[in-house]
Amino acid sequence: MNSHVQNTDNPIRTRFAPSPTGFLHIGGARTALFNWLLAKRHGGQFFLRIEDTDRARSTQAAVDAILDGLSWLGLDWDGDAISQFDRADRHVEVAHELLAKGQAFKCYCSPDEVQELRDQAFAEGRALRSPWRDRDPADAPADTPFTVRFRAPDSDVTLKDAVQGEVRWAAKEFDDLILLRSDGTPTYNLAVVVDDHDMGITHIVRGDDHLVNGGRQSQIYDALGWERPVFAHIPLIHGDDGKKLSKRHGALGAEDYRAMGYLPEGLRNYLLRLGWSHGDQEIFTDAEAIAAFDLSGLNKAPARMDMGKLNHINGHHLAQADDTRLAELVVPFLDGLENRIADAEITQQRLLAAMPVLKTRAATLAELAQQSYFLLKNRPFHLEGKAAKPLNDEARQRLYRLFTRLADLNGWTEKALTEELKNFAEAEEIGFGKVGQPLRAALTGGAPAPDLAQVMTFLGREEALDRIKDQMSADA
Ligand code: GLU
Repeated sequence: MNSHVQNTDNPIRTRFAPSPTGFLHIGGARTALFNWLLAKRHGGQFFLRIEDTDRARSTQAAVDAILDGLSWLGLDWDGDAISQFDRADRHVEVAHELLAKGQAFKCYCSPDEVQELRDQAFAEGRALRSPWRDRDPADAPADTPFTVRFRAPDSDVTLKDAVQGEVRWAAKEFDDLILLRSDGTPTYNLAVVVDDHDMGITHIVRGDDHLVNGGRQSQIYDALGWERPVFAHIPLIHGDDGKKLSKRHGALGAEDYRAMGYLPEGLRNYLLRLGWSHGDQEIFTDAEAIAAFDLSGLNKAPARMDMGKLNHINGHHLAQADDTRLAELVVPFLDGLENRIADAEITQQRLLAAMPVLKTRAATLAELAQQSYFLLKNRPFHLEGKAAKPLNDEARQRLYRLFTRLADLNGWTEKALTEELKNFAEAEEIGFGKVGQPLRAALTGGAPAPDLAQVMTFLGREEALDRIKDQMSADA
């Protein structure tokens, strides 16, 4: 157990706190995964809080996109998702608690005055301090709107971050933060602290774009006399060019990776390794990931998206996945493939028969669909160009002779078919290639495919013989 983990009387409670922006960002998915793993590792709990205080952006559709993304990734949360907006009253209550303790004050500065103070502070190399922090509230002008500001402490702020190490800010770097706006609504950092405290959150893993917030939030925890959680601010994900991941780099949402045909366990494993390491181990089952995950394995250097590695990891998980599940998951990826058999039952039959072999040859479900295509294409094939090349008159006559032998074959098994193909080549006094090439053209239309005896078992006797028959004469 590492030093950042609290004792077992205080079981670990983590959370993922996305702002609903319309999709689950791949970086958010990784943050969620790390928090989820940390909770699982220690038998704790993982919560979901939707930071939906920006009412313009927080549509139900935006929230649903996050819930769907997490569910697809298999990152289940404890209890119901919590709405930050719904807790506004509690945030206000805590702001009043800070007021009562003198840790916050009412500021009557007008926006123009604030701007002036801010400019002055900037010129002096410090953050804004409101004159009202030291003024007698009795001097407050009547009927003037006020904000509630946090009384920024005069001492430096130190944050012991599980990833960044000890981070220090001088007192003058933090302003008298607004806690309640002049319309009485709570602001972001107050809401986060109150929610994390009330939810009993012990560990916060999140992007290092929130590191400064970590400093501010620490001040608020201290002012309230609340125990700070353990913070772990992780570097953001960068593109393969080393720049911060953006639209320019391609897919940003977990949903995009799903649409490209990655499996949730493949993406999970990839994201795990993107910013966390455990020796050289690349491939993790969930059980292994849960057993190994710790904050000390989080990397301080930014991680780079590497599609090659993602494909490698996903391909591994694809090869391990259950055949029936894959045969179902691949179906939507078959949609774009032209002239495909309509019968869902036959589709499933052939996919299932071929899956143990096909799944070892693809990195994604999209590739798996491509690999499966030859099985599912309507016959007869009208072969042209390169695909038709192996089918000269001699080859067609040979297919005819092969057809008559195969039609009489007892038992349509890979073993029997392999034997028969060998015997046929011997009887014809030719090398296997001379049988193989036209037969492949007939069975697959020239598509790359596994071993031909296997292909014939995937197709089944009737379909395989029909495909050979289609190419036996030149008018096919
Ligand atoms: N809502 C913030 C975001 O989506 C996260 C805040 C936090 O994790 O404390 O970036």
